[in-house]
Amino acid sequence: MNNANWVTCYVGLGSNLSNELGSPTEHLQQAIAAMREHEQIRKVDVSSFYASAPMGPQDQPDFVNAVASFETTLTPAELLAFCQQLEQQALRARLRRWGERSLDVDILLYGEAQIAEPQLTIPHAGLLERNFVLIPLRELAADIMISGQPIDSYAASNDWTGLKLL
Ligand code: AMP
Repeated sequence: MNNANWVTCYVGLGSNLSNELGSPTEHLQQAIAAMREHEQIRKVDVSSFYASAPMGPQDQPDFVNAVASFETTLTPAELLAFCQQLEQQALRARLRRWGERSLDVDILLYGEAQIAEPQLTIPHAGLLERNFVLIPLRELAADIMISGQPIDSYAASNDWTGLKLL
């Protein structure tokens, strides 16, 4: 694996539903543990955990959000499959659109890749508007450029509305 091409990636994690496998914080911790154990993932780094007000229906618990960075030899499609596997391992229940879920794992950035396929958009479509993604991402990578602009130039990366450090 020494000669393999390791690509730096960022994934967003979110949960606001407890189940028999744990609380939202525990769902995130279990997903991060699985990343650390994956043979094709190395150098996992994780932001602080944040509580964020829900985007959709307001009659649901706050989310716990974090961003993880790592290097991987997985292709984008393989990484998407791994993220979906992590969601399934958390017994993902999804009750309604924008509603509560036990675990959501989104690929935010995959190296410099720009991908626009029906099943995979990178950079992630909601990335630039969501403070619960940009603020933890900036904590990990204060100088990162997203779509040619410094992360600081996106208003949501400095907007703490609805967001609290846990
Ligand atoms: P959701 O779980 O509601 O966030 O959406 C899941 C769907 O989004 C999956 O079917 C993916 O194929 C699709 N998708 C598109 N772009 C991405 C991305 N960057 N990361 C994760 N899922 C994505």
